[in-house]
Amino acid sequence: MAPTPQAGLYIVATPIGNLGDITLRALKTLAAADAVAAEDTRHTGRLLAHFEIDATLVRYDEHGAAHQRPKLLARLDAGESVALVSDAGTPLISDPGYRLVEEARAAGHAVHVVPGPSAPVAALSVSGLPTDAFLFAGFLPTKSAARRSRIGELAAVKATLVFFEAPHRVGAALADLAEVLGPREGAVARELTKRFETVERGTLAALAARFGEGETKGEIVLLIGPPGEEAGTLDEADIDALLVAALAKMPASAAAGDVAKATGLNRRELYRRALALKET
Ligand code: SAM
Repeated sequence: MAPTPQAGLYIVATPIGNLGDITLRALKTLAAADAVAAEDTRHTGRLLAHFEIDATLVRYDEHGAAHQRPKLLARLDAGESVALVSDAGTPLISDPGYRLVEEARAAGHAVHVVPGPSAPVAALSVSGLPTDAFLFAGFLPTKSAARRSRIGELAAVKATLVFFEAPHRVGAALADLAEVLGPREGAVARELTKRFETVERGTLAALAARFGEGETKGEIVLLIGPPGEEAGTLDEADIDALLVAALAKMPASAAAGDVAKATGLNRRELYRRALALKET
């Protein structure tokens, strides 16, 4: 039988794909906890079954958190150990748990971390983009106008930007990123630690063109290198890709203006090129 851990809340990371990435401490903590609080008890039940762990599973998800939280805090008050997990990766990282940790701490309970995989850090580490400073900004807004405005807010941040993105929106998000941020390097990290893992690098314009075509599947992290780290000047194809993305949403003059702002290129020449592209 697993030893009873000390009372308190344990924030336990689980794999983001490859089950071999669970840590020894995670297994021990999950096996010994009085209760395992999970976003989706069926999903976590399968993970626990794989490791032959028989645990008391309770739900802690985004929708029910407000009424589930007092029950978990009551368990902590009673001297129990509670492990919090999410469907994948590190809880609280675009996943439920923030208020639970905040309230558990405020109530004087011990809160421990059992660290492990997390998609943003995994993606950053394989992207080949600068890692000395990075800003993880969760999911971008789903509507283009709000997304462009959010990207604009982050444009001057001197760090690699890291976002989560749904596969069916990745092309549109990259087109907006290319248009607002101009000639910056990016990476698309897909299905990390899984069978079809890929990491594609390129300028944002090239990535927008690549992911604008066809259907993309799987789980995705988008990364954008910091301003000033651009790989030289844009080639013609990059400029055309930026203009085409802009032309899909606005008239030629506005598209030329936007691309000029993002790239520093001459607005009149961009306008001429935009008109030519429109004709073809
Ligand atoms: N808490 C999790 C973590 O620490 O990685 C992230 C949860 S968030 C709701 C889920 C998003 O993470 C997915 O939509 C995707 O953008 C990203 N993600 C999760 N697993 C991934 C993987 N194996 N490869 C690439 N991205 C992944």
